[in-house]
Parts: sequence; structure tokens; C-alpha cells
Amino acid sequence: MNSHKFSPESKMMSHGYKPSLSEGSIKCPIFNTSTFVFNTAEEGKAFFEVAYGIREKEASEEMGLIYSRINNPNLEILEKRLCLWDEADDCATFESGMAAISTVFLEFLKPGDLLVYTHPTYGGTNHFIEHFLSKIGIESIGVFADQSVEEIKSIIEQSGKADKLAMFYLETPGNPTNDMVDIEAYSILAKEFSTDENKVIVAVDNTFMGPLWQHPLKHGADLVLYSATKYIGGHSDVIAGAVLGNQEVMNRVKVLRTFLGNMISPNTAWLLMRSLETLKVRMSQQTKNAQEVAVYLSKQDKVESVSYLGLLPEGSEQYTIYKKQCSAPGGMISFNIKGGEKEAFQFINALQLMKVAVSLGGTESLVQHPNSMTHAGVDAEQKERMNITDKLVRLSIGVEDVKDIIWDVNQALEAVS
Ligand SMILES: *Cc1c(COP(=O)(O)O)cnc(C)c1O
Repeated sequence: MNSHKFSPESKMMSHGYKPSLSEGSIKCPIFNTSTFVFNTAEEGKAFFEVAYGIREKEASEEMGLIYSRINNPNLEILEKRLCLWDEADDCATFESGMAAISTVFLEFLKPGDLLVYTHPTYGGTNHFIEHFLSKIGIESIGVFADQSVEEIKSIIEQSGKADKLAMFYLETPGNPTNDMVDIEAYSILAKEFSTDENKVIVAVDNTFMGPLWQHPLKHGADLVLYSATKYIGGHSDVIAGAVLGNQEVMNRVKVLRTFLGNMISPNTAWLLMRSLETLKVRMSQQTKNAQEVAVYLSKQDKVESVSYLGLLPEGSEQYTIYKKQCSAPGGMISFNIKGGEKEAFQFINALQLMKVAVSLGGTESLVQHPNSMTHAGVDAEQKERMNITDKLVRLSIGVEDVKDIIWDVNQALEAVS
């Protein structure tokens, strides 16, 4: 037989699903069931031995279905499909991006540990680190994209907790400013701080770029995390999350998920499988549209500056990291309007096609004002340091006709006095 390696987008309609197990249905049904019938008591015993780690699975053995908090066909097929994009050994899907993120923190951090994370990070993540992890004795240090790795290394050494460093948590590109950090450089730093007993984990929130335009595992990260609510879901109709990595780390994530019970539901998993079929088409169109909108914005008198990966100046450090890590600039744009909150709000309120809403990555274009909306809870000094000011506007570009988006932006800019 001829062999050929199909691209992930070609396998999104079929991978991991056997029609013969479901009456020949071309599409995977929704397995709305809490539990699964064992053929014999011996079979039930064997499945539990593997699920609870009492013994290793034999090479020829196929793990059976037990109970939908442990496994379910919709979850398993979705997870197999998600693995293809990041070339990961395994994937775990969750009921939200925050469920994925908090499970990773709880599994890989313990009281007394040190966590180093990049600013800006998603508001919910920031809150979990600063208000929950701190309460259970996990110290954290926030670092910025413009700090060199040497600088960060010396901050860790001077903290007196270098031997307690357990995780680097990176969000790149950062929301909402598109700041990039070098995943490979952090992975090398993690190795330097690792010992035989204590491996420093590198986890990357890849929601903005993934799973298409950036693959953190290839740059040395141990875990890649997603809010699947965004591009993966892509239709602003579900909340979901995912974590991917090698078998060893994923076994740990999946065991904790079993006991926290925050796995995705079969219905949501099914919706995400439907979404995955058009992921490449959607993200490609969103990227194409965003590039045109960003170029258009950069030429407008009322616009002070545009942050878009496709407009990074060649030769800059940010451009170098972008070129190393990403294969396309994605669909997220932020820009500074001349003036302040008054002008930003005039622009936002005048838009006719674009809706004012938080979230991102859906088929429809959205606009929001980070300073007073998604990042309202972030410390004012930190916001200033991250260039999140009252004149910043964030756009998530959808799949509409780009002529209509540009018409909308143009007439909304005209409404700014
Ligand atoms: C939305 C988002 C999250 C949180 O995901 P939910 O699905 O809303 O829980 C985490 N990280 C980033 C970058 C996000 O945009």
C-alpha cells in the first residue's frame, strides 16, 4: 500500500473514529452516557487496574471505557484529533480554559514552590496566581517580555528561592499587546534550574496562536494549554479548555482531572470536533483579514500605533522571536487611538458590524477596551508597564468579508472627534 502522511486538517473529519462501532454513522454520535457496560467482571477488573495505575497497560491491550469522568468516546476522539496539530503524545480536555490552567498549576506546584510567569497574562490566570496560589503558599514572580533571559535568571537567583523554582508559565503572544517571549530560551533556563529530583516545567498558554500558528512543544515546552473557547471552538458558543504534552506529564494531568472531575462534557466535545473540521479554513481567513485590517489601521491619522505580529519591524528582537516561533501572525490586533478613553469609546460605539464583547477567536469580529474591560482588575502600575492604557483598543478579527470590516473601521474612526 502507498503510504502518505496526511496533514492534520485532512484528518479532522475522521481521525480516531471507527464508523463500524456506531452503526456506520459518518459522524461520531454524542455519547450521552455516564457509565459503560463491561462484558465480564474480569474485564472490569482489568480496566480499573490500568486506569488506577495498579499495573502498566500491556502492549496489545486496548483500554476499555469505564465511566465518563475517566473516559468517554467523544473526549477520547477529540483529544486524539487535538494531538495532531501539536504533535503531542496525549491531550486532556476540560470544561473551560481556566479548568485546564488551574489543574496544571495544582498538579505541578506545591506549597513552598516558586512560579515565574510572564506579564501580561490572561486576567483569570493572573487572579488565580496572585489570589489563590499565594494563599496556599506558592510564591510567584511576574516578568516582562522586554526583560532579557539573563535578567530573569538573576532575579530568580536573587529571590533566594532558586532551588524551589518549579514552573515557568508563559503566555506568548501576550494578551492584549501581542508581546512575544522566547519559548526556547525559557526551556533552556528551565534545564539550568532543574535537578534530578526537581524538574522545572515550562507551560505555555497558546490560545492566541494555536493550535495552528505556533507549536510550543517543538521549542522545548513541556505543556501547551488552550482556552478552546477561542479559536478551537471558534463560534463563540462553547466554553472549553485543553492541555497537551508528553505521556509522562499528561498521565499526571489526567489523574488529577479524574479526581477534580473538571473534564469536558460529551456534548461540548462533540461541538469541538465539529469546530476542528474548519479550524484551518477559519484561522487562515481570520489571519488574512487581520493582516489587511492592521495595514489599513497603521495608515490612519487617528491611530497612533498598531500592535500586530504581521507588522513587526524586521530586525527587531520581537520580530526575531516571532519568526522563530510562529508560521503566521494570527487574527488579534490591538491599537492605540489618538486621545484616550473618550476617543476609544467613540470608536467602539460607532462600529456597526463589529460587536462590543470580550472573548476572541470566533467567526465574528469583536472589539473591546482592555483597560476598562478584560484587564480592569490588573494593578494600575502593572498595566502602565504593559502598555495597557485608556487609548488601547483590541480587535479579534472574524471571517467576514474584509471589505466590510474595513468599511466599519473607517466609518467608526470618522465618528471620533
Ligand atoms: C479566554 C482565555 C483563557 C481562559 O479560558 P476560558 O475558556 O474562558 O476559561 C485563558 N487564556 C487566554 C489567553 C484566554 O484568552
